[in-house]
Amino acid sequence: MVTPKLYRQTVCGLMLVFFAVMASTAQRDAAKATAAIRAGRLIDVRTGRVTANVYITIANDRIMGIADFVPADIPMIDLSKYTVLPGLIDCHAHVLGNQKDQSSASGLRMSSAQKALWGVHNLQTWLDHGFTALRDAGEDDLGYAQLALRTSIEKGLIRGPRMVSAGNFVSVNGGHGDADVLAPDQQLPRRPNIADTVDDVSSSVRRDIKYGADWIKLMATGGVMDPISDYRVEELSEQQMARAVEVAHRAGKKVMAHAEGAEGIKAAVRAGVDSIEHGTVMDEEGASLMEQRGTWLVPTLFCFQHDLQTGLSQGRDPVSFAKGVAIVKEQGPAFHRALAHHLKIAYGVDDDADFVSKEFAALVSGGMTPIDALRAATMNGAQLLGRYGEIGTIEPGKYADIVAVDGDPLADITVMEKVVFVMKGGEVYKKAPQ
Ligand SMILES: [Zn+2]
Repeated sequence: MVTPKLYRQTVCGLMLVFFAVMASTAQRDAAKATAAIRAGRLIDVRTGRVTANVYITIANDRIMGIADFVPADIPMIDLSKYTVLPGLIDCHAHVLGNQKDQSSASGLRMSSAQKALWGVHNLQTWLDHGFTALRDAGEDDLGYAQLALRTSIEKGLIRGPRMVSAGNFVSVNGGHGDADVLAPDQQLPRRPNIADTVDDVSSSVRRDIKYGADWIKLMATGGVMDPISDYRVEELSEQQMARAVEVAHRAGKKVMAHAEGAEGIKAAVRAGVDSIEHGTVMDEEGASLMEQRGTWLVPTLFCFQHDLQTGLSQGRDPVSFAKGVAIVKEQGPAFHRALAHHLKIAYGVDDDADFVSKEFAALVSGGMTPIDALRAATMNGAQLLGRYGEIGTIEPGKYADIVAVDGDPLADITVMEKVVFVMKGGEVYKKAPQ
């Protein structure tokens, strides 16, 4: 006869057996590493700690853990000669087109399809330099080829970094994002992202969202690379930018603002944008405002310095080059203000993909510590992209996006220019020399 007491004991016993079986299955699954990396040195970007001779275990596309020892039967990637870091993140990329053609007509001479094919090529360069994720900071392409590239990477049709992307530049007529730089009697049809009123902004933003943009890119001020705008001048009004933020945030999208001149930076921050791009002429008040609001800064220091080296050699318009010579004097003091106010800073290049690693040295010579430069390009970038749960550090459960360099970037940041090993999602894209 089964008494209530015996019944209770039996049920409890069976439950214990059940949980014991579950626990041992979990242990067995945890032991199922598909690969391991032997790291000579591992930089934990979050704490700044460096550990020597450790193993990173990987299960398929994810990081399982960090261990002092792994069983001999797990396939081993030997990076014992190298320093291992999380995959890098570029938060200000433009992936389309021939990045070595700086003429203001370059975009007009190329079809969307051709720009996309250049994009496929350019994306390999980002990967090859260790950039396993990037944010496209907007394009001038009515076909949204950048969004097609992003989706094609997700679907595995092409290889490339994980990508989030802005749509087309939202700009005032005659502003930094107006691709029509022709004479008044030769003008192009008006683009859908040209916005001169608050309601125009709603339509442009909704159009970008309709076609799949993750971010909205606003031109808050004039810029440098075009031959018509003035980088000191605010272009979109604060009301226009506030509308963009309202419409984008309601749809769960974020807003980035190209902003060089001091007034446009402050208007964009007050309007509630998520990140300021460049911030080249940021004043003290603008830096305090960003600190109070927690607005991100993507400073893109190197591209302005690089422009002085390339000069007119890549088809650049002399009017645009003169602006480049003038603005570069502003960036040092502005970046010091940003550092003094402890702004949240993410790494962004805004240049030809061949030079994607050069921003590290520019950040450090601008006054940032090497560990903060590494953070800008890893965990900070992941936070700005809203993907910190999945990328940006080497921690259990995150994607196995891992790179290695030859040397110690904390002692010499330029070693980041020679990434020798690249893994994205557990797949090796670049093998380290043994
Ligand atoms: Zn840009």
